[in-house]
Amino acid sequence: AKKQGKNRFYWFEPPMENELRFRNKLEAGIRDGIANGEFVPYYEQQIDLETEELVGFEMLARWVSPELGIVGPDIFIPIAEEIGAIGELSESLIAQSFEDAKEWDPTLTLSVNISPVQMRDPWFSQKILKLLVAHRFPPDRLDIEITETCLHENIGMVRSMITSLRNQGVHVSLDDFGTGYSSLAQLRSLPFDRLKIDRSFISELKQEENGSALVDAIISMSDGLKLPITAEGIENEAVLEVLKSMGKMKGQGYHYGRPEPADKVVERLAARGML
Ligand code: C2E
Ligand code: CA
Ligand code: CA
Ligand code: CA
Repeated sequence: AKKQGKNRFYWFEPPMENELRFRNKLEAGIRDGIANGEFVPYYEQQIDLETEELVGFEMLARWVSPELGIVGPDIFIPIAEEIGAIGELSESLIAQSFEDAKEWDPTLTLSVNISPVQMRDPWFSQKILKLLVAHRFPPDRLDIEITETCLHENIGMVRSMITSLRNQGVHVSLDDFGTGYSSLAQLRSLPFDRLKIDRSFISELKQEENGSALVDAIISMSDGLKLPITAEGIENEAVLEVLKSMGKMKGQGYHYGRPEPADKVVERLAARGML
């Protein structure tokens, strides 16, 4: 507002004003939402494509906002990172998911996504250890997913982080593989347990199409690195069949179901005798 003379204000609304206001509201909403426990884990099934067995779940965060409804992580994770709230938010989600996953069959793994911002925290692996101990969750059931873009950061720090997590018995996967342009040399120098092929490569796969050349190349690369793989974004039977013909791997995607809240997971597991 501009002050014009005595006690008179003229409001002007530049085009950005509305967006800015919305953004400020979002930030405030996220802060309140963390305090009020509005962020909850959803879970997506992970399947062994060969045996068709359910092997675990990936935790995917959702914001159940009283005002906005169910909001996805692509909206709130970047904002939580910017306002310095990602660590607290992530720890709360991981704690909730440990409590959920403790009830599941102990063969089932739990994958969680970690932001590059958290990877810069020198105390990160200590924080994970503390959560594992506090919630009595077995470290070898936990799989931490680090996106390939993390590797653009200080690689020495990333390596020691992965190493200290693995020394605690936790597994570490490289997420969104193929989207981050990391070099083979770089990958070979990092002690990952698994590669996750990004869904942008998978969703294009169809029978009798050459879209599979890229996925073929990614799979031979993982063979070379001696790393098992998970394919994400399997949306239909056709894609599933192509992947099965390419070798042994795990997979996940809408073909198996959408991410669902903990109570739905419990129903699903009860029906399979996996509680
Ligand atoms: P991501 O790790 O690559 O997770 C896969 C995303 O693809 C999820 O979106 C999932 O719901 C969606 N998806 C799964 N199967 C299919 C499919 O068959 N077709 C299509 N079109 N999509 C599928 P979502 O849940 O919106 O999550 C988006 C991203 O947000 C995730 O990508 C992950 O990087 C990030 N994220 C989620 N939860 C967290 C979290 O707690 N912390 C951090 N730092 N990031 C998170
Ligand atoms: Ca992921
Ligand atoms: Ca992905
Ligand atoms: Ca991702």
